[in-house]
Amino acid sequence: MSPGIYCAEALQNDVFKTLSQVAQKLDLECYVIGGYVRDYLLKRSGSKDIDIVAVGDGIALAQALAAALPGCSEVSVFKNYGTAMLQYQDMTLEFVGARKESYAQHSRNPKVSPGSLSDDQNRRDFTINALALSLDPNNWGALLDPFKGMEHLSDQKLITPLDPQITFSDDPLRMMRAIRFATQLGFTIDEKAWQSIKDQASRIKIIAPERIVDEINKILATPKPSIGLALMYEAGLLDMILPELTALLGVEEIEGQKHKDNFWHTLEVVDNISLTTDKLWLRWAALLHDIGKAPTKRFDPKIGWTFHGHEFLGGKMVHKLFKRLHMPLNEKVKYVQKLVAMSSRPIIIAEDFVTDSAVRRLVFDASDDLEDLMTLCEADITTKNAKKQKRYLQNFATVRQKIVEVEQRDHLRNFQPPIDGAEIMKTFGIGPSPFIGQIKESIKEAILEGEIPNEKEAAHALMIKKGISLGLTPIHITL
Ligand code: ATP
Ligand code: MG
Repeated sequence: MSPGIYCAEALQNDVFKTLSQVAQKLDLECYVIGGYVRDYLLKRSGSKDIDIVAVGDGIALAQALAAALPGCSEVSVFKNYGTAMLQYQDMTLEFVGARKESYAQHSRNPKVSPGSLSDDQNRRDFTINALALSLDPNNWGALLDPFKGMEHLSDQKLITPLDPQITFSDDPLRMMRAIRFATQLGFTIDEKAWQSIKDQASRIKIIAPERIVDEINKILATPKPSIGLALMYEAGLLDMILPELTALLGVEEIEGQKHKDNFWHTLEVVDNISLTTDKLWLRWAALLHDIGKAPTKRFDPKIGWTFHGHEFLGGKMVHKLFKRLHMPLNEKVKYVQKLVAMSSRPIIIAEDFVTDSAVRRLVFDASDDLEDLMTLCEADITTKNAKKQKRYLQNFATVRQKIVEVEQRDHLRNFQPPIDGAEIMKTFGIGPSPFIGQIKESIKEAILEGEIPNEKEAAHALMIKKGISLGLTPIHITL
């Protein structure tokens, strides 16, 4: 305990007063606990998730609060977990009855029984997350800190309340949480805890993939995700969760020719992109952009190391990976796949003389994701050779400039063919047939190659020409 520390300032919102009053009526002790208290003490800007622990029935407390405080949302009750949740203003309040937990070896679902506040603090993951504030009017705002959480906050340490072997074995998700907090807060994982994580990394397999991905997403949302990714690797967790990434580790040398270590390169790319975008899925694309390189790596005595087709294969691997980790299989996976599959396109253009038609094809293929693709490719430049870096960046600037020119002239984003199938059928008096596709394709190609402008009149003329070359006769010409 830390007698004497009071944090009444953290409890200014009227919700805490009302909560205290209803708790008294129900003859319950209740406390604010966990992330809200930690973030208040760290002066991290306003946590909106508030965890309340009641010594007694947490669900009844939530319901009593909702009845007493105008403006509260309905209470969502999760009977199986003995928890309840409600919204008030911009805050989410979660209620739980103080509990003791005991775990069986092969499950992460504990046996739960009612307990005291200190039982409840014991089952928390880290000492800094076990800090509680009293809502008892006689002890308003008193900080209850049984495990030196305050000291660990100022030492910036992640330490488990119990023996770390027990804490991590009971609920292996805590290993990911440790790494996530280390990344978010810049804290160090205590040595004993770190050793336990390394010992028990393989137990992560009993955890639902969705929960692991939640933690990875939080790591990816930080300014420097490589901290957490490197810790996951060192702990042995990454190998179990994302083996596609650890497969990129290492540098091979044949006949004096080396390739770069694509794992550490990937981590640099993720950090780079995090300087310029907050988009979670773009950060995922950066994380996965090179995964096709491990299975496609070859050594060719004439040209050295090659990774032919790694982008295409990488795109396919993204889908499998998303499926395995129960990640969204909707437009999110398609977006990441597309960026991975296209991840070398701008650099290929930039390495060479930047032609209009290559840029036109890039704009056409990337469409609405062009900006994100360019962001990814710029982040992909990790060369330490200053001259090379300068050249790449200059070439990318040229690509960007050409994009603007091509866009203004050709309107290729979300390309709508200037001639549609119905018009082709009418012109040649034919029904649906493969000719339609062939004519449309040749018009699209001619536009992308810059042979004709993206305009109706020119496309119409080409349609007639192409139709005749296919043996068709125009019978109805309108323009
Ligand atoms: P954030 O909200 O920023 O993710 P948090 O610490 O509030 O951080 P939550 O997942 O909201 O994390 O959980 C609230 C509190 O519940 C934590 O502070 C911790 O005390 C406890 N907790 C959450 N998950 C676990 C777990 N797996 N093991 C033990 N305690 C946990
Ligand atoms: Mg929280």
